[in-house]
Amino acid sequence: MKIEDRQSTKLISTLGPASQGYDVMRELIYSGVDMFRFNFSHGDHSTHQENIQKVLGINKELGTHVGIIADLQGPKLRVGKMPEGGLQLVEGETVTFVNWEREVVDKDTIYMSYERFAADVHPGEKILLDDGKIILQVQQTNGKDSVQLKVLAGGVLHSNKGVNLPETRVSLPCLTAKDLEDLDFILRQPVNWIALSFVRSPQDILDLKERIAAKRHPAKVIAKIEKSEAVAALDEIIEAADAVMIARGDLGIEFPLERLPALQKEIIRKCRDKARPVIVATQMMESMISNPTPTRAEVTDVANAVLDGADTVMLSGETAIGKYPVEVVRAVNRILTEAEKYITSFEQYRPYPDQSSPTFLSDVICYSAVKTAEDIGAKAIIGMTVSGYTAFSVSSYRPEAKIYIFSAERHMLATLNLVWGVRCFFYDKLTTTDETFEDVQNILKGEKLIQKGDVIINTASMPIYQRQRTNMLKATVVD
Ligand code: PEP
Repeated sequence: MKIEDRQSTKLISTLGPASQGYDVMRELIYSGVDMFRFNFSHGDHSTHQENIQKVLGINKELGTHVGIIADLQGPKLRVGKMPEGGLQLVEGETVTFVNWEREVVDKDTIYMSYERFAADVHPGEKILLDDGKIILQVQQTNGKDSVQLKVLAGGVLHSNKGVNLPETRVSLPCLTAKDLEDLDFILRQPVNWIALSFVRSPQDILDLKERIAAKRHPAKVIAKIEKSEAVAALDEIIEAADAVMIARGDLGIEFPLERLPALQKEIIRKCRDKARPVIVATQMMESMISNPTPTRAEVTDVANAVLDGADTVMLSGETAIGKYPVEVVRAVNRILTEAEKYITSFEQYRPYPDQSSPTFLSDVICYSAVKTAEDIGAKAIIGMTVSGYTAFSVSSYRPEAKIYIFSAERHMLATLNLVWGVRCFFYDKLTTTDETFEDVQNILKGEKLIQKGDVIINTASMPIYQRQRTNMLKATVVD
């Protein structure tokens, strides 16, 4: 697929056993994948390393800039090893959680990977097991190592099933010992984004950013919104993060499922207000893990993510372990193409820049570039960026004109592949603004993305050598 034919909405594919062959990955890119997600809940470092090399190799072969997201597992809570066939929990009975015995013997020795559970929970709080299929309620805790719970909804509990505590203030750090080990590996790799799971506060993001900066790594941070505490601190988390993922899997356990559609819209809108790229994730095409075609509901869900204004949609199990990794990517691509035709007016949501923002001046230039492009029928908005901010800002106003961004930071080319509508090119000359504009125009003409007679808008920072935020815009007819 040629770049001018690609959709504005971006597509992430999670890599896994079903998709990590070189040829499959290349086919996925041809079929529309913009980013690969490496899920650190699964796989070992040597497999991740090999797969990273494959992405780099394919990019070189195809001339693409497909990016890499490293997704840290975070403090995912799990029960211990259950007896053969699982443990039957019956509604109305009382069971006990302990923290001293990993192998569960009976209903009074259920282990959970959370040392301080007994100290942190309070009577009345609900505990959800196995994606909410089993529900327990705390009756009493000894504050140390044992918690008694009543079974509100029963079922068979199997080994290592996940636990969610939507009503409890979990005192675990956001980065576990495993995450720190993974991070040590990740920060030696050319990844573009690091996703942080189970974020609860903006400080979680700032702590991770500090660790990344200490290694002088250029990776940006995605906050995964999947905890009720994250929704409560949404504005501050969006502000602290570089991008946001609506992780609907765990979010749909922490909140009643029927609240997900409105939460999705609210999170997307807030991200657009702050020019943070936003990803809609999980169960988008779930049935295609085992079927060659999606359900009507799934097709509508993907299309609605586009119409809600998401930058990016994400496939998880569909491409990681599914039977039809390439077919599902093609199917999503077709849905994105159709859905984008129905965004007839990009005016539908274009928030005016926030005057109190420290980026207000350059935001107004980017906003004006989009408005002016519309008024004069410009074919493209062309920006220069060091930090990526101009790309985030222009994109957040969703112009009808194409967005072409130039950067002297090579890693940016793949980093910005996550962002709605953005195509990024390398340019590192430090000449005059006039020469730069002529150069980038020639590059785009060479790529056949613009042609003589097209109207284009350039944004830049003057003087160009100071590499500051965007502070000017210019309209030109291509000669
Ligand atoms: C989710 O919960 O929706 C999600 C994306 O997280 P993970 O796949 O890492 O569990």
